[in-house]
Amino acid sequence: MASMMDFGVKEKSQWCAGCGDFAIVGALKSALLELGIEPKDTVISSGIGCSGKTPHYLNVYGYEGLHGRSLPVASGIKLANHKLNVLAMGGYGDGYGIGAGHFVHIMRRNYDMAYIVHDNQIYGLTTGQASPTTQLGMKTKTSPEGVVETPFNPLASAIIGGATFVGRAFAGDIIHMKQMMKEAIAHRGFALLDILQPCVTFNKLNTYEYFTKRCYKLQEAGHDSSDKFKALEKAMEQTATNYEKIAVGVLD
Ligand code: SF4
Repeated sequence: MASMMDFGVKEKSQWCAGCGDFAIVGALKSALLELGIEPKDTVISSGIGCSGKTPHYLNVYGYEGLHGRSLPVASGIKLANHKLNVLAMGGYGDGYGIGAGHFVHIMRRNYDMAYIVHDNQIYGLTTGQASPTTQLGMKTKTSPEGVVETPFNPLASAIIGGATFVGRAFAGDIIHMKQMMKEAIAHRGFALLDILQPCVTFNKLNTYEYFTKRCYKLQEAGHDSSDKFKALEKAMEQTATNYEKIAVGVLD
């Protein structure tokens, strides 16, 4: 039986102090431990971005590949060895931008894996450009007058696309995030877990405080995750112009 120490690595992190990525890695180690999954039985495939470094910071098998290709690599690993616990991890640029074609089609195929997306609403690694999920009106290096494009809605896309588990968590609520990871990993089929992950260096709008004020837990609000239409309603609650209520938990 593995211990928390067995998931640790000696490598020094390159992430900025306070980045939500630290909480994601910590919660993931704990989730794997509680699920009784050994480090040798887990593989993480990632792409490019700050979050692409995730496999470096856990003592599991890892592959940091090309930008936007974490899902095809993860699919290949799962097809080659069904017994492995396969996770794809990365940013929304990787998954919802350049890798969007893979994102749409992997849901139809329903491979048994979890896709954990670090969603921080800005391109952090390249120092602060607007991304597919950047909030409407937000000023960035590439949108000095404010973003004019409607943000991509990953949860609604996943529900419509046929993902068999769709969830969201907030990196500032580690206990809940760990529980969501456990459910996504234990799910038999394709699971999307979108994690709201503050980028403390380049996103001064979507901060820990911002999400703490707005996030509410679906299961405490009586949401029925077996009802696809209700799930879509919840996914659409946070629209391009309304950011006041952000649902976290299992949508579908
Ligand atoms: Fe985290 Fe942002 Fe720093 Fe990247 S740039 S490590 S996302 S705080």
